Amino acid sequence: MIDALPPVVALAAAAAFGALVGSFLNVCIYRLPLGKSIVWPSSACPHCDRELSWYENIPVASFLALRARCRTCAAPISVRYPLIEALTAAMFALAWWYYGPGPLLASRLVFGCALLVLFAIDLEHHLLPDAITLPGILVGFAFSFFTGLGWKDSLIGIVLGGGVLYLVARGYYLVRREEGLGMGDVKMLAMVGAFVGWELTLLTLMLASFSGTLIGVGLIVSKRGGMKSALPFGTFLALGAAAAATVGPAVLSWYLRLL
Ligand SMILES: [Zn+2]
Repeated sequence: MIDALPPVVALAAAAAFGALVGSFLNVCIYRLPLGKSIVWPSSACPHCDRELSWYENIPVASFLALRARCRTCAAPISVRYPLIEALTAAMFALAWWYYGPGPLLASRLVFGCALLVLFAIDLEHHLLPDAITLPGILVGFAFSFFTGLGWKDSLIGIVLGGGVLYLVARGYYLVRREEGLGMGDVKMLAMVGAFVGWELTLLTLMLASFSGTLIGVGLIVSKRGGMKSALPFGTFLALGAAAAATVGPAVLSWYLRLL
Protein backbone atom coordinates (compact mmCIF):
# COMPACT_ATOMS: atom_id res chain seq x y z
CA MET A 1 0.00 0.00 0.00
CA ILE A 2 2.74 2.45 1.03
CA ASP A 3 4.58 2.03 -2.30
CA ALA A 4 1.48 3.43 -4.06
CA LEU A 5 2.06 6.77 -2.31
CA PRO A 6 3.79 9.62 -4.17
CA PRO A 7 7.57 9.20 -3.64
CA VAL A 8 7.95 12.39 -1.58
CA VAL A 9 5.15 11.37 0.79
CA ALA A 10 6.59 7.86 1.16
CA LEU A 11 10.05 9.28 1.92
CA ALA A 12 8.62 11.70 4.50
CA ALA A 13 6.66 8.85 6.10
CA ALA A 14 9.82 6.70 6.22
CA ALA A 15 11.75 9.57 7.84
CA ALA A 16 9.00 10.22 10.41
CA PHE A 17 8.83 6.53 11.29
CA GLY A 18 12.64 6.50 11.50
CA ALA A 19 12.61 9.42 13.96
CA LEU A 20 10.24 7.49 16.24
CA VAL A 21 12.45 4.40 16.03
CA GLY A 22 15.43 6.66 16.76
CA SER A 23 13.80 7.83 19.96
CA PHE A 24 13.49 4.16 21.02
CA LEU A 25 17.17 3.61 20.10
CA ASN A 26 18.00 6.49 22.48
CA VAL A 27 16.24 4.58 25.25
CA CYS A 28 18.35 1.49 24.42
CA ILE A 29 21.58 3.53 24.31
CA TYR A 30 20.88 5.12 27.70
CA ARG A 31 19.47 2.10 29.56
CA LEU A 32 21.27 -1.02 28.24
CA PRO A 33 24.69 -0.12 29.75
CA LEU A 34 22.95 0.55 33.09
CA GLY A 35 21.25 -2.85 33.00
CA LYS A 36 17.79 -1.22 33.03
CA SER A 37 14.69 -2.45 31.21
CA ILE A 38 14.12 -0.84 27.82
CA VAL A 39 10.31 -1.21 27.93
CA TRP A 40 9.50 0.00 31.45
CA PRO A 41 9.10 2.59 32.96
CA SER A 42 8.40 5.42 30.50
CA SER A 43 11.04 8.07 29.82
CA ALA A 44 12.05 10.41 32.62
CA CYS A 45 14.63 13.14 33.10
CA PRO A 46 17.81 11.31 34.21
CA HIS A 47 18.60 14.22 36.52
CA CYS A 48 15.38 14.94 38.46
CA ASP A 49 13.53 11.70 37.60
CA ARG A 50 10.34 13.49 36.57
CA GLU A 51 8.38 11.50 34.00
CA LEU A 52 8.29 13.17 30.58
CA SER A 53 4.95 14.18 29.05
CA TRP A 54 4.11 13.33 25.45
CA TYR A 55 5.12 16.72 24.09
CA GLU A 56 8.60 16.33 25.62
CA ASN A 57 9.04 13.05 23.75
CA ILE A 58 8.64 14.29 20.17
CA PRO A 59 11.83 13.43 18.23
CA VAL A 60 14.15 16.41 17.55
CA ALA A 61 11.32 18.98 17.93
CA SER A 62 11.10 18.63 21.74
CA PHE A 63 14.85 19.10 22.10
CA LEU A 64 14.66 22.34 20.11
CA ALA A 65 11.49 23.61 21.83
CA LEU A 66 12.95 22.88 25.30
CA ARG A 67 16.23 24.58 24.26
CA ALA A 68 18.17 21.48 25.39
CA ARG A 69 17.14 21.78 29.05
CA CYS A 70 14.79 19.88 31.36
CA ARG A 71 11.61 21.90 31.97
CA THR A 72 11.69 21.39 35.76
CA CYS A 73 15.33 21.01 36.87
CA ALA A 74 16.96 22.80 33.90
CA ALA A 75 19.60 20.04 33.60
CA PRO A 76 21.10 20.03 30.09
CA ILE A 77 19.75 17.38 27.67
CA SER A 78 22.47 15.60 25.71
CA VAL A 79 22.73 16.52 22.03
CA ARG A 80 22.97 12.76 21.45
CA TYR A 81 19.16 12.52 21.61
CA PRO A 82 18.23 14.70 18.61
CA LEU A 83 21.37 13.51 16.79
CA ILE A 84 20.40 9.81 17.00
CA GLU A 85 16.79 10.66 16.05
CA ALA A 86 17.85 12.69 13.02
CA LEU A 87 20.37 10.02 11.95
CA THR A 88 17.78 7.25 12.20
CA ALA A 89 15.25 9.34 10.26
CA ALA A 90 17.82 9.93 7.50
CA MET A 91 18.77 6.23 7.48
CA PHE A 92 15.13 5.12 7.06
CA ALA A 93 14.47 7.60 4.23
CA LEU A 94 17.72 6.76 2.41
CA ALA A 95 17.24 2.99 2.80
CA TRP A 96 13.65 3.25 1.55
CA TRP A 97 14.86 5.12 -1.52
CA TYR A 98 17.89 2.82 -2.08
CA TYR A 99 16.41 -0.65 -1.47
CA GLY A 100 12.68 -0.13 -2.01
CA PRO A 101 10.14 -2.12 0.02
CA GLY A 102 10.98 -5.77 0.66
CA PRO A 103 12.85 -8.17 2.95
CA LEU A 104 16.26 -6.61 2.15
CA LEU A 105 15.01 -3.19 3.31
CA ALA A 106 13.73 -4.68 6.58
CA SER A 107 16.99 -6.59 7.11
CA ARG A 108 19.19 -3.54 6.43
CA LEU A 109 17.12 -1.31 8.72
CA VAL A 110 17.26 -3.76 11.64
CA PHE A 111 21.01 -4.13 11.01
CA GLY A 112 21.48 -0.35 10.81
CA CYS A 113 19.61 0.21 14.09
CA ALA A 114 21.73 -2.43 15.85
CA LEU A 115 24.94 -0.83 14.50
CA LEU A 116 23.83 2.65 15.61
CA VAL A 117 23.12 1.45 19.17
CA LEU A 118 26.41 -0.49 19.37
CA PHE A 119 28.34 2.49 17.98
CA ALA A 120 26.92 4.93 20.55
CA ILE A 121 27.29 2.59 23.55
CA ASP A 122 30.83 1.51 22.65
CA LEU A 123 31.91 5.12 22.12
CA GLU A 124 30.72 6.17 25.57
CA HIS A 125 31.13 3.03 27.70
CA HIS A 126 33.60 0.81 25.77
CA LEU A 127 30.95 -1.88 25.92
CA LEU A 128 29.05 -3.96 23.34
CA PRO A 129 26.00 -5.43 25.11
CA ASP A 130 25.12 -9.09 24.51
CA ALA A 131 21.47 -7.93 24.49
CA ILE A 132 22.14 -6.52 20.99
CA THR A 133 24.86 -8.76 19.50
CA LEU A 134 23.50 -12.22 20.42
CA PRO A 135 19.89 -11.73 19.24
CA GLY A 136 21.44 -9.87 16.29
CA ILE A 137 23.25 -13.04 15.17
CA LEU A 138 19.97 -15.00 15.20
CA VAL A 139 17.92 -12.27 13.50
CA GLY A 140 20.58 -11.78 10.80
CA PHE A 141 20.66 -15.52 10.14
CA ALA A 142 16.84 -15.66 9.96
CA PHE A 143 16.76 -12.77 7.46
CA SER A 144 19.28 -14.56 5.20
CA PHE A 145 16.53 -16.99 4.11
CA PHE A 146 14.57 -14.09 2.54
CA THR A 147 17.15 -11.54 1.37
CA GLY A 148 18.92 -13.53 -1.32
CA LEU A 149 22.03 -13.87 0.84
CA GLY A 150 21.25 -17.48 1.68
CA TRP A 151 21.73 -19.26 5.01
CA LYS A 152 25.07 -20.86 4.04
CA ASP A 153 26.71 -17.51 3.29
CA SER A 154 25.26 -16.11 6.51
CA LEU A 155 26.49 -19.08 8.57
CA ILE A 156 30.00 -18.85 7.09
CA GLY A 157 29.87 -15.12 7.89
CA ILE A 158 29.04 -15.84 11.54
CA VAL A 159 31.79 -18.45 11.95
CA LEU A 160 34.41 -16.47 10.02
CA GLY A 161 33.58 -13.07 11.56
CA GLY A 162 33.53 -14.39 15.10
CA GLY A 163 36.38 -16.84 14.51
CA VAL A 164 38.89 -14.37 13.03
CA LEU A 165 38.45 -11.87 15.86
CA TYR A 166 38.48 -14.64 18.47
CA LEU A 167 41.87 -15.82 17.19
CA VAL A 168 43.19 -12.25 17.13
CA ALA A 169 41.97 -11.70 20.70
CA ARG A 170 43.52 -14.99 21.92
CA GLY A 171 46.79 -14.29 20.10
CA TYR A 172 47.05 -10.79 21.53
CA TYR A 173 46.40 -12.12 25.02
CA LEU A 174 49.03 -14.86 24.69
CA VAL A 175 51.66 -12.38 23.51
CA ARG A 176 50.87 -9.35 25.68
CA ARG A 177 49.18 -11.02 28.67
CA GLU A 178 46.44 -8.40 28.61
CA GLU A 179 43.13 -7.99 26.87
CA GLY A 180 43.32 -6.03 23.62
CA LEU A 181 40.04 -7.07 22.05
CA GLY A 182 36.98 -7.96 24.05
CA MET A 183 34.55 -10.80 23.43
CA GLY A 184 32.02 -8.06 22.60
CA ASP A 185 33.93 -7.33 19.38
CA VAL A 186 33.97 -11.05 18.55
CA LYS A 187 30.18 -11.34 18.92
CA MET A 188 29.63 -8.09 17.05
CA LEU A 189 31.56 -9.23 13.97
CA ALA A 190 29.71 -12.56 14.10
CA MET A 191 26.48 -10.51 13.96
CA VAL A 192 27.81 -8.53 10.99
CA GLY A 193 28.59 -11.85 9.28
CA ALA A 194 25.05 -13.09 9.88
CA PHE A 195 23.56 -10.02 8.17
CA VAL A 196 25.92 -9.47 5.22
CA GLY A 197 27.76 -12.79 4.61
CA TRP A 198 31.45 -13.62 4.77
CA GLU A 199 32.80 -11.46 1.91
CA LEU A 200 31.41 -8.18 3.21
CA THR A 201 32.42 -9.24 6.74
CA LEU A 202 36.06 -9.41 5.66
CA LEU A 203 35.63 -6.01 4.00
CA THR A 204 34.13 -4.69 7.27
CA LEU A 205 37.16 -5.94 9.21
CA MET A 206 39.57 -4.36 6.69
CA LEU A 207 37.76 -0.99 6.77
CA ALA A 208 37.53 -1.02 10.58
CA SER A 209 41.21 -1.93 11.06
CA PHE A 210 42.33 0.64 8.49
CA SER A 211 40.26 3.52 9.87
CA GLY A 212 41.09 2.50 13.45
CA THR A 213 44.82 2.50 12.70
CA LEU A 214 44.57 5.82 10.86
CA ILE A 215 42.83 7.55 13.76
CA GLY A 216 45.07 5.80 16.31
CA VAL A 217 48.22 7.04 14.54
CA GLY A 218 46.63 10.48 14.25
CA LEU A 219 46.06 10.56 18.02
CA ILE A 220 49.64 9.46 18.72
CA VAL A 221 51.15 11.98 16.29
CA SER A 222 49.03 14.82 17.70
CA LYS A 223 50.08 13.56 21.20
CA ARG A 224 46.46 13.38 22.29
CA GLY A 225 46.77 9.76 23.33
CA GLY A 226 49.41 7.06 23.57
CA MET A 227 49.36 3.49 22.32
CA LYS A 228 47.54 2.61 25.53
CA SER A 229 44.52 4.88 25.16
CA ALA A 230 42.19 2.14 24.00
CA LEU A 231 40.02 3.22 21.09
CA PRO A 232 36.77 1.29 21.16
CA PHE A 233 37.11 -1.05 18.18
CA GLY A 234 33.34 -1.62 18.06
CA THR A 235 32.77 1.95 16.86
CA PHE A 236 35.08 1.29 13.89
CA LEU A 237 33.39 -2.07 13.25
CA ALA A 238 30.04 -0.24 13.13
CA LEU A 239 31.32 2.33 10.63
CA GLY A 240 33.03 -0.37 8.55
CA ALA A 241 29.91 -2.55 8.51
CA ALA A 242 27.68 0.37 7.49
CA ALA A 243 30.03 1.14 4.58
CA ALA A 244 30.38 -2.54 3.61
CA ALA A 245 26.62 -3.16 3.66
CA THR A 246 25.88 -0.19 1.39
CA VAL A 247 28.77 0.44 -1.02
CA GLY A 248 30.56 -2.87 -0.29
CA PRO A 249 29.23 -4.88 -3.26
CA ALA A 250 30.36 -2.11 -5.67
CA VAL A 251 33.80 -1.96 -4.01
CA LEU A 252 34.20 -5.76 -4.21
CA SER A 253 33.31 -5.97 -7.90
CA TRP A 254 35.69 -3.08 -8.67
CA TYR A 255 38.45 -4.88 -6.75
CA LEU A 256 37.80 -8.21 -8.47
CA ARG A 257 38.07 -6.52 -11.87
CA LEU A 258 41.53 -5.26 -10.89
CA LEU A 259 42.77 -8.81 -10.27
ZN1 LIG B 1 14.96 17.22 35.14
